[in-house]
Amino acid sequence: MRISNDTNPSNELNILRGRLPEWVAASKLQCKGGKVASYIPELSKAPGGALGIHIVDAHGNTATAGDCGLSFTMQSISKVFTLLLALIDNGEDVVFDKVGMEPTGDNFNSMLKLELVQPGIPFNPLINAGAIAISSLIAGDTAEEKSDRTLAFFRKLSRNDSLNYDLAVYESEAEFADLNRSMAYFLKDNGVLKGKVDDVLDVYFRHCSINATCSDLARMALVLAFDGTDPISGTELVPRRYVQIAKTFMVTCGMYNASGEFAIEVGLPAKSGVAGGILTMVPGRYGIGLVGPALNPKGNSIAGVHLLETMSKELDWSLF
Ligand code: GLN
Repeated sequence: MRISNDTNPSNELNILRGRLPEWVAASKLQCKGGKVASYIPELSKAPGGALGIHIVDAHGNTATAGDCGLSFTMQSISKVFTLLLALIDNGEDVVFDKVGMEPTGDNFNSMLKLELVQPGIPFNPLINAGAIAISSLIAGDTAEEKSDRTLAFFRKLSRNDSLNYDLAVYESEAEFADLNRSMAYFLKDNGVLKGKVDDVLDVYFRHCSINATCSDLARMALVLAFDGTDPISGTELVPRRYVQIAKTFMVTCGMYNASGEFAIEVGLPAKSGVAGGILTMVPGRYGIGLVGPALNPKGNSIAGVHLLETMSKELDWSLF
């Protein structure tokens, strides 16, 4: 990927700096039509009217607007990065022996197809069942070692050594996880999970509860936008092939069962989480992190999706 030597903000970034406040204000009006997630009780404390965004380019120039100082747990956004770590640890053959490559069209926490479609492996690594399978593939002798390695990887990609767990969310998720637990036992019985179910779930709950801000998501997205190399330091952090796999899953499955509509309306690889975060990118140009805790019925930030639709249309960002 060619990185320009001109370190000044581009015209487009200057346009973004000028127009983001008005676009964020318009999208914020959507918040009242959404709902903050409450099936993990601790998440219900998030401010439903908030919306913030942080955009970073290859030289570290930024454009921000709204409530971009809000911190929130990564939730399903973390699944993109545990997939990358599992690929680094095991290679493609081992990983895709345990999870498929196809969208489901079902909710992120559905286990319907596990029994319906043989060989009974999760359809993809971004639904809950798939991400739980991926957690069991992360290298480490104990759950603690796997989680330590995961957190270290997330810190390296975000360039933020103080990235850490929100323990209140972690405990809340572990307590109210009957569906994820039943899925994990089912996967264990199908021969998909290695190790003890409780240990695998602990790794999964921990990575979902890593706390971040929009700027952390933007820095992590920037590495994906530049095919695995952090353009600011020039360091290769993830092999290009694995980033290509992750970005493809983001396009086909990253916004749950709204991924098709998002591809049409926005046209960028993206991953959302139930705490209201969205990580996306304009490949070769920007990493983008945003948060808006009020969700639409498909589980994506209602105002966040609206804001991305506006930006992509105004700036002609769709890849398609
Ligand atoms: N931790 C959440 C869960 O397992 C992640 C789901 C999400 O962000 N969609 O339900």
